[in-house]
Amino acid sequence: MSIMVPSTTPALIAPGRQALDSALHQFNQAADHLGLDDGLRTMLATPRRSLTVSVPVRREDGRMEVVQGFRVQHNVSRGPAKGGLRFHPGTDIHEVTALAMWMTWKCAVVGIPYGGAKGGVAVDPSGLTARELERLTRRYVNEILPLIGPEKDIPAPDVGTDEQTMAWIMDTYSVSAGYPVPGVVTGKPMTLGGSLGRAGATSRGVQIATLAALGRSPEGVTVAVQGFGKVGAPAALYLAEAGCEVVAVSDVTGAVHAAGGLDIRALRDWVAESGGVRGFPQADALAHDELFELDVDVLVPAALEGAITEANAPRVRARLVVEGANGPTTPQADEILAANGTTVLPDILANAGGVIVSYLEWVQNMQAWSWSGGEVEHKLRDLMLEAFATVKAVAAERELTLRQAAHVIGVGRVAEAHQTRGLFP
Ligand code: GLU
Repeated sequence: MSIMVPSTTPALIAPGRQALDSALHQFNQAADHLGLDDGLRTMLATPRRSLTVSVPVRREDGRMEVVQGFRVQHNVSRGPAKGGLRFHPGTDIHEVTALAMWMTWKCAVVGIPYGGAKGGVAVDPSGLTARELERLTRRYVNEILPLIGPEKDIPAPDVGTDEQTMAWIMDTYSVSAGYPVPGVVTGKPMTLGGSLGRAGATSRGVQIATLAALGRSPEGVTVAVQGFGKVGAPAALYLAEAGCEVVAVSDVTGAVHAAGGLDIRALRDWVAESGGVRGFPQADALAHDELFELDVDVLVPAALEGAITEANAPRVRARLVVEGANGPTTPQADEILAANGTTVLPDILANAGGVIVSYLEWVQNMQAWSWSGGEVEHKLRDLMLEAFATVKAVAAERELTLRQAAHVIGVGRVAEAHQTRGLFP
């Protein structure tokens, strides 16, 4: 029996799920452009391996709760599967599948030798104690153990996970193997083989890509950042350090605005004290949605999927949208932004700094070697700028948006790798 994926309707897996629909829509556009045949199209539209696990967790009061976990390996034609692990109450198999697919194209577009994967656990980490989180992480890793390994599938941080989560993953895997295996996971603490520059890598990549896309001096360029977490906060700081005026920032607690530019370090201290940007004394309060409508040069969505939709896209006034998050713009919003002349620097390029430095960390681990921060940053910059130049050139040559061009490059490289390897048996 063969499974057919229609060229325009993403019908194979979970229609109606926004992230997966978006990912399949973007893939189908690229597949059409490349003229992929039905067999290859179906293969690339579906995950290579997809695992759902039940993770029992012992709570501090002795009760046992069971949460769902996922690990999806979308493609391994170009190398081992690679992608983050997300702890979020809203995560499900469809979202994880979409995120895994985006990882495949992302690794291909920046030219690092990985396939794409993603993991998720449907849990709110802020509702668990550190010990509960540790038990949950270790049990989840145990459940997905047959899938992961330094030459098979390498997790990393994503929404709701951090260095400590990665340390528990490294330890659980290593204890099971019987020897230390630092290369099984990236985004580790420095003491366990982490890389200099990994913590801020996604944001550094956002800064590099933004400055390249601006193509002019950043002095006085105004920026609004949605999300003030692992990606948004350092991105705001790096953009401000480069000379931009970061005039607005939002997080789950609210949004703040200062016409002359926010003091990002002071805002960071405020968030550390108060738990969110809301109430920051050196700024005016802003309604959440207003951030998207500000008259700024650059808008950086750096939170979750589906932030810019057909509802708010017509009111976006930024000239450049830089996707720090994965999948923040729906396909309908994409069309509206393009029609209005807004350039979108797509997620699979704009936020690739994270997985690029993950790759550099993994290479250091595999060689039992450690590079200077300067060396890591230099390599990150080279890979980001080369990918940006290639995407820009393909977009101009083929009259595509940057997202379409990035997908054509990513999907094309994966298709070529698959065809060159040939089909077994
Ligand atoms: N979670 C990050 C992303 O979405 C990093 C993945 C990685 O380093 O493997 O790109």
